[in-house]
Amino acid sequence: MNPSVDVCIIGGGLGGLATAAFLQQQGKKVVLLEQQSRPGGRVRSTQLDAQTVLEHGPLGWLDKEPAVLDLCDLIGQVPIPAEPVQKERRLWKQGKIYALPKGPGSFLATPVMPLRSRLRLLMEPFIRRRPEPFGEESVADFARRRFGAGVADNFFAAMVSGIYGGDAHQLSVQAAFPLMAGWERDHGSCVAGALPHMRRLKREVQSGQRRPTSRNLMTVEGGMAGLTDGMAQYLGESFRTGQDVAQLRRVGKKWFVLDSSGSTLAGASQIVAATPSAVTAGLLREEAPHLAQVGAAQVVAPLAVVHFLVRQEEIGGDIQSFGFLALRNQGLRALGVQYASSIFPGQTARGLVQLRVLMGGVHDPDLLALPDQAIVAEAWEPLVEPLQICGEAVHTEVTGLPQAIPQYDLGHLARRVEFEQVAARLGGLHLGGDALHGVGVTAVLARAQATARSLA
Ligand SMILES: Cc1cc2nc3c(=O)[nH]c(=O)nc-3n(C[C@H](O)[C@H](O)[C@H](O)COP(=O)(O)OP(=O)(O)OC[C@H]3O[C@@H](n4cnc5c(N)ncnc54)[C@H](O)[C@@H]3O)c2cc1C
Repeated sequence: MNPSVDVCIIGGGLGGLATAAFLQQQGKKVVLLEQQSRPGGRVRSTQLDAQTVLEHGPLGWLDKEPAVLDLCDLIGQVPIPAEPVQKERRLWKQGKIYALPKGPGSFLATPVMPLRSRLRLLMEPFIRRRPEPFGEESVADFARRRFGAGVADNFFAAMVSGIYGGDAHQLSVQAAFPLMAGWERDHGSCVAGALPHMRRLKREVQSGQRRPTSRNLMTVEGGMAGLTDGMAQYLGESFRTGQDVAQLRRVGKKWFVLDSSGSTLAGASQIVAATPSAVTAGLLREEAPHLAQVGAAQVVAPLAVVHFLVRQEEIGGDIQSFGFLALRNQGLRALGVQYASSIFPGQTARGLVQLRVLMGGVHDPDLLALPDQAIVAEAWEPLVEPLQICGEAVHTEVTGLPQAIPQYDLGHLARRVEFEQVAARLGGLHLGGDALHGVGVTAVLARAQATARSLA
């Protein structure tokens, strides 16, 4: 059966599923084609036993965009907030774990960097705006210029490796952190831009224009796959697995979605490609051959997620926090460790502690070539001393993700424009997912809702 629909969505990760679900809610006839045999893409949660969920992709989402709450309502899921300890963040530096500051006051008191660097932070509102023309700038250069080297090298470097598995010297601040770059551009400083931004959001909530959000980390029953399975269920027959899309062809005002034998999988007046840049470019090879190089040039960082379950009584260290990020080149191969059972206690069997170690990233491209045992050893050994672990893990699991996080490197804005120009020239083509317009659950779902609204 090769359906003719209003909108055909390619890719059944969070982005594709949410776009399809929001469109179906609006009464559009949709079909979502997913290559794999299950929904979710990078979202994968497994149930180890009746109480324990292991997250192999995102651990949760930050509740700052109403789109995710709207989606939960649509599919009948109830968001579960993380424990308040998740607001406690830590930094691993030279073998020690430090509390990360939560506000301006604690920033001044943090021992993570010298007093000179902390005082430099206070200068931010008085640092001149970068002269025009504004080109792209690396996160490292932006942070050094605005906040000083101490903040750049400690906090921004750790944040970039924690969120992107990336390199602060390569990531574009305009593409990866557009809000912050915009605050400087439009208001002269980040402080001057952040305050009116927060006031505007508050006003919108008070006037009923915007649904309130908590800024908490959230999940749903059964873990993040509850969202993607819920969407797949909501879509019913409109969601199809095992559909390896090979090509998109535009004929007149209609799109044809073809498999590798040239057979038509679907026909539609609109297409949403919620696939990695290289895949989207490949699908469009006949319509826009020049995109192949543009798409292939986007680096996608590899990650390994290593889970450890440890008996509670065998951990003496403080795990009452989100966990810690690790600075590069300080002897720790892990990017960071999340104390999953402190964040979402309902997802780990009583008496056990769940530790989730993230490794890899652009600084460690060869990690996944190691055997699992070696990855486990690299993840485990540095935990033993700081967390005062005196036993062995009762369960260990490694998930290798060769294509985990797309990088928004310098040049990303031009890449995005190239894709958008092709979409505008061909017509009826929309770009979703996290390849180009924002990484993370919240960004991906906000874009999915915006795309669905634009097609209403
Ligand atoms: C380890 C890890 C931890 C993370 N942690 C967090 C976190 O805690 N919080 C957060 O907000 N974000 C986190 N993220 C980021 C977040 O998971 C992603 O931004 C988001 O899941 C991306 O969704 P997507 O739909 O864009 O892509 P994907 O999930 O990759 O979906 C793309 C889909 O397209 C399909 N596809 C590809 N080619 C074809 C084809 N030719 N035909 C048909 N289908 C095709 C794929 O099979 C896949 O299902 C994390 C990511 C990883 C990897």
